[in-house]
Amino acid sequence: MHEMLGAPLRVLSHTDRRAGAIRLRIALDIDSTLHHYWDQFSTVVERRFGIDMPYENQRDWGIGNLRPEQVAVVVAETHSAEFVLTAEPYPGAIETVKRWVDDGHWIHITSHRADEAYDLTAQWLNEVGLPHDDLHCSFDKISRCVELGIDLLVDDSPVNIENALAVGIIPATLSHPWNEEICEAEGVISAADWPTLAGLLEPLLSDRPSDS
Ligand SMILES: [Mg+2]
Repeated sequence: MHEMLGAPLRVLSHTDRRAGAIRLRIALDIDSTLHHYWDQFSTVVERRFGIDMPYENQRDWGIGNLRPEQVAVVVAETHSAEFVLTAEPYPGAIETVKRWVDDGHWIHITSHRADEAYDLTAQWLNEVGLPHDDLHCSFDKISRCVELGIDLLVDDSPVNIENALAVGIIPATLSHPWNEEICEAEGVISAADWPTLAGLLEPLLSDRPSDS
């Protein structure tokens, strides 16, 4: 397990970087990480329940206006073909991940999507050209990351970010209204867009020898 907190950009100097070996193990969330999921979610909420849920008002991770069973129905609908296959990757996301793969990093795609959404998700990843080594749709995200020896998790969920920190996985995320607070925490790497996030992660992922 990595030493964590305080020096996230140095911690990976301990990681295996032998030439030709897998370098870092990177886990990537999908919704609100690889594409702008909120628009899909709020579209279904409006359509089904007539409730307006503007993105900028989603300041906490609870989805206060909806009952849990309503949330479940909406999430299931957003993981149907209509939405999964039409999702537009965030600008710079695909290019960044392609570069990471070219640089020898190992990519695990991980989503709290039901198992039934697996095939569609795989199809979408293929269609948008997002290279990856592994895809996992389930609700045991962090424990699966631990089993896989993940070094870095890119995920917008404050719960996942916190749990990643707790087990020594470096968390990075796009900043959203609901994760503003945890983005301020020590050891969390965050940015408003993929090109900026990629730049912030560069010292962690590049070939340059660590100065630690
Ligand atoms: Mg997400």
